[in-house]
Parts: sequence; structure tokens; C-alpha cells
Amino acid sequence: MNIYGLFGESLSHSLSPEIHKQIYSSIDANAAYTLFPFSPDKLPHAIEGIRTLSIKGVNVTIPYKESVLPYLDDIDQHAKQMHAVNTIHQKENKLIGYNTDYDGFGLIFERRNWKVEGKTAVVLGSGGAAKMAIYYLKENGAHQIYVVSRSPEKYQNQDIIHFIGYNDLSHITGDFLINTTPVGMYPNIENTPVEESIIQSFDCLIDLIYNPYETRFLSLGKSLNKKTANGMDMLIGQAVKSVEIWEDVIINQEITNQLIDEFSKRQDEQQ
Ligand code: NAP
Repeated sequence: MNIYGLFGESLSHSLSPEIHKQIYSSIDANAAYTLFPFSPDKLPHAIEGIRTLSIKGVNVTIPYKESVLPYLDDIDQHAKQMHAVNTIHQKENKLIGYNTDYDGFGLIFERRNWKVEGKTAVVLGSGGAAKMAIYYLKENGAHQIYVVSRSPEKYQNQDIIHFIGYNDLSHITGDFLINTTPVGMYPNIENTPVEESIIQSFDCLIDLIYNPYETRFLSLGKSLNKKTANGMDMLIGQAVKSVEIWEDVIINQEITNQLIDEFSKRQDEQQ
């Protein structure tokens, strides 16, 4: 049996074991997935544990997506560019790092046939998920990317990437407005990172949050007839891509779609 798991600090609410169980069952993989929570001082031991215990792969979440990098033998090109790894594969005694959040984020656009090329996008927040989103948007030919931070002065603009504050947002119109902040996440579900007057100026809204299933940000968008997407495609998409790497398989898009529908329904019912 192949053993997989999730490295992170606080994992008790993770949906990953259930998602992975369903993926393994849908492809008849003889595999198990478990949570490996540990504190930052234990990171070198945890990495050594992958080698010692012949664990075939792990996902990596907050706060280890960057700090695992020096421990890996090789890093995939996208992950290297983003300076973040969310998937480690042990192959021929080597640990190889990937970033399948990139693929999960891409799935949001692919499933809706939303094209990035030539478009203007605004990314709310400047953390790990924002860096991945900015990289994706740039790789896929965005025309302009505005990154909205509470402290834009910390950053330097780079060609199409402009850092701005929340007060500057009222002057900007665009195609995509993407929330990568935790604002609006359970239990603070009444919060929204921006109000209707800002949302009004965009066509498509993406919230990386999936709990609640529909954040206030997205429900405001819906009431203004905007196209919306939450973070469930990304959550399932990154898991599916990790399994494709670990098990060396191509997973049918139908299976991914079914998983998104099933977990979306569950989250929606909980709301
Ligand atoms: P992170 O590294 O902590 O970054 C979050 C960023 O949001 C911060 O850098 C900050 O940017 C901004 N922020 C934080 N608190 C804020 C507040 N109270 N008000 C306004 N802005 C605030 O976290 P992350 O890993 O990027 O994750 C961010 C979100 O994405 C979380 O909600 C997470 O659940 C979600 N996510 C979803 C998936 C998925 O699979 N769907 C995967 C990864 C992450 P500034 O300081 O520049 O304002």
C-alpha cells in the first residue's frame, strides 16, 4: 500500500483525507492518506520521516510551503518560480517538490472557459495564495495585474504587476477580482474584503475560500449579476494533480467534476 499524507501545523479541519480517499477509490489505487501535524521545529525530522518510512508523497500546507524547499532534491519549474511547494513526491529515493495549487487554481478558469489572456485582474491580498495566483495570471498572458495589500509600500511594481492599497481600488475596473485574503472565511462569514461599489467594476469574481461555500463577497457579486467561483475547484484540483504525480496516472476530468459536485454539495448543505 502507498502511504500519503498532509504536512502542516494545524490540520484538524482538513478535508484532504476524505478527498484523497475518494480519489484513490475512483482509480482503484491501493493507497492511504493521513494527517501529519507538527510544529515548525520538527520540520527536518518530518522530512527525514518521509525517507525513513518510505512515504511515497505528502502535501504541504501552512506554514511549510516555503520552508520545505531547502530539504528537497529537486523542484519542478513552476514551484521554483513561485518559491512554494505543496506536493512532495518520493521517487527513486529523491524528494521532488511540485506546486499543484497552480493546477487547482487553473481549473477554476478551465471549467468556466474563462480566458486570462489580455485581461486585467485584481488580486486581493499578497500572501502565498496571491503569489501563486499572480504567477498563474502572468503565465497565462494577463494584460495588467493589480495586487491589493494593506501595506503596498512593502512591494515594488514589476512590469505588469502593480501594488496598490484598498483606497486606490475605486479607480480600477477589470475582468477578474480575486480574493486571496482569509476575510469572509468561517466563522467570520459576515465580512467581505471589498464592498459592492468595488465589486461592481468587475466581470468575474473568484474567492479562494470554500468554507462557507458562498462567501459574502460572492453573494454580493451574484446579486450584481457577476460570474462567480469559489475555492472548491482549486481544493479538489490540487488534490487530483498530486495523485496524478504520485500514482503516475491521468485522472479523467469526469472524476474531478464529480468530486467537485459532491464536496460542493456537502459544503453548501452545511452553510
Ligand atoms: P497568507 O499567506 O496568510 O496570505 C493572506 C494574505 O491576505 C496576507 O498576506 C494579507 O495580505 C491578507 N490578509 C490577511 N488578513 C487580512 C485581513 N484581516 N484583512 C485584509 N487582508 C488580510 O494565506 P494564504 O495561504 O495565501 O491563504 C489565503 C486564503 O486562501 C485563505 O483563505 C485560504 O483558505 C485560501 N486558500 C484556499 C486554497 C484552496 O484550495 N481553495 C488553497 C490555499 C489557500 P496584506 O498583508 O498584503 O494585506
